[in-house]
Amino acid sequence: MPLLGYLVVAMMAFFLVLSFFMGRYWCWNLCPRGAFLDIVMSKFSAKRQLPLIFSKGWFRLLIFILFMGFVVMRILHSGGNLILIGSIFVAMCLVTTVIAIVIGAFIKHRGWCVICPMGFLQEKISGLNKK
Ligand code: SF4
Repeated sequence: MPLLGYLVVAMMAFFLVLSFFMGRYWCWNLCPRGAFLDIVMSKFSAKRQLPLIFSKGWFRLLIFILFMGFVVMRILHSGGNLILIGSIFVAMCLVTTVIAIVIGAFIKHRGWCVICPMGFLQEKISGLNKK
């Protein structure tokens, strides 16, 4: 199971490079969680308006810092144990998926994608190519 974490890391590396050239192509075409939210959660969503705070840059940055800080802190405390490091990424994936499902069910099916740290990072990286 922890080996799956390295698949997550490989996917992250792939979409972060991709985002430099193609923006959030990953989000709209390849992300398995995005597809799940579109195909499954759209059928169960309360379809409410997202809280205004979701669209605030500072809030999205805060979510990004919190998640990245959590991952970095856990890696630093792993003692270099590769199994443990792999399981950190699996846990991150599971936790964010649960949050995405809760937001999708009670607010809007793709609501998580507005504040997703990986979506945020892709947006920032693609912005570097436009400068
Ligand atoms: S914003 Fe996050 S969850 Fe949504 S499609 Fe992009 S990477 Fe996937």
